[in-house]
Amino acid sequence: MRTACMPTNPDRVLIIGGGPAGMAAALFALRQGADVLLLERNEKLGKKLYITGKGRCNVTNAASGEELLDSYPRNRRFLYAALRFLPPEGLREVLRGLNCDTIVERGGRVFPVSQKASDVTRALTRGLSGAEVRLGVRVKAVSKTPGGGFSVLTEGGESLQARSVIIATGGLSYPVTGSTGDGYALARTLGHSVTDTFPSLVPYETADDWSRPLTGLSLKNVVLEAARGKKTLFSQQGEMLFTHFGISGPLVLSLSSHLAGLDAGAVDCFIDLKPAVTAEQLDLRLSGMLREDGRKQLSGLLPQLMPSSLAAVFPAVCRVDGTRQASQVSAAERRRMTACLKHLPLRLTGPRPFSEAVITRGGVQVKEVDPSTMQSKLVPGLYFAGEVLDVDGYTGGFNLQAAFATGALAGRSAAGGPGQTME
Ligand SMILES: Cc1cc2nc3c(=O)[nH]c(=O)nc-3n(C[C@H](O)[C@H](O)[C@H](O)COP(=O)(O)OP(=O)(O)OC[C@H]3O[C@@H](n4cnc5c(N)ncnc54)[C@H](O)[C@@H]3O)c2cc1C
Repeated sequence: MRTACMPTNPDRVLIIGGGPAGMAAALFALRQGADVLLLERNEKLGKKLYITGKGRCNVTNAASGEELLDSYPRNRRFLYAALRFLPPEGLREVLRGLNCDTIVERGGRVFPVSQKASDVTRALTRGLSGAEVRLGVRVKAVSKTPGGGFSVLTEGGESLQARSVIIATGGLSYPVTGSTGDGYALARTLGHSVTDTFPSLVPYETADDWSRPLTGLSLKNVVLEAARGKKTLFSQQGEMLFTHFGISGPLVLSLSSHLAGLDAGAVDCFIDLKPAVTAEQLDLRLSGMLREDGRKQLSGLLPQLMPSSLAAVFPAVCRVDGTRQASQVSAAERRRMTACLKHLPLRLTGPRPFSEAVITRGGVQVKEVDPSTMQSKLVPGLYFAGEVLDVDGYTGGFNLQAAFATGALAGRSAAGGPGQTME
């Protein structure tokens, strides 16, 4: 990695943003023989990459074919060529070539063998030895020059020339890492449209005071469901967590990518605490329990069915007196409890802010970008890569995979390499 200022070369590929997308773009442009200049506003590359996967970096997912594409709920077709150009196995090979071996864990999640995100950044940085990398440089404006190239203005007042420009500035999530939406403004001034943006893969706030004492409680193997009117928006089994503001955990992050942009108040959300049994089976079991231990207090029996902190608040949620003797619980009250076990309602009020969101939903309109090259359809020589685009995936390594794949394809294309076929 060259860090000293090199003489201006107007023929170079200039990349804005040194996250995974920008680093992959630089790597693949270098491999194509280009003169590469990478500008990053932070004092180090890949600041967000360091905190991915809780510091372990879930770098990609071993999924392939339709399973891989299905992990992107929106604009999946747009990603087709990029994922063909650099599929998960290809990305693992690139990292292997840079001395960073990876392993597949549960759910196909791929991590560096060392379990250290910093090793992924270190490997990529090694691959950039032929590029000029300038840190602490924030790009303020990009404009076309009469000669067909670009002029890139930095916050420090420097004007840099380039033949092609790749915007890889990320989205709006975790702005402390440098992703503050600059790329959207740059894209707009160059004539591109940017869709509305929303925090996604994010915890949700609820209005349920009964759940506050449950802060820290994790529920495993439950089904979380969300519907609007008769339309089921989400239904998945897994793990979730109660927090002081509402709900979080893997199921909730997945839920959020289906709700981003919707009015949370119009969404019915509930937990099936006992997905393995039907309501009828559960009602029979509850009725047997109440009969057999008829002299015990109801609240003393409920921990047989659920964690004790939940059991403590459950009778109130179902409007049943928990101090009542089990034998005194009426059939209607029992049925209400059964209904709550299968359908525990949550009142969602809205997502947590961008500062807590793993990704941004929305971004540069993909209809205006050629999927086989990542080149703008409006401005020749301009490319986009990574989260700045209107693409987002589920948790499991799919967002980094998309960033690396679009970055690699943009880098190769900007350096004059052939586009990727869509077949
Ligand atoms: C806490 C957390 C954990 C995550 N874990 C995972 C995970 O395990 N697996 C997974 O697949 N995804 C994960 N993600 C998502 C993943 O990190 C992002 O999708 C990915 O980093 C996007 O890459 P990018 O290069 O497009 O953008 P970024 O990583 O956001 O990089 C953009 C870079 O551009 C720079 N920049 C911005 N504006 C300018 C400017 N004007 N001038 C110069 N530089 C600029 C920024 O400083 C930044 O370094 C996680 C995200 C978070 C927040």
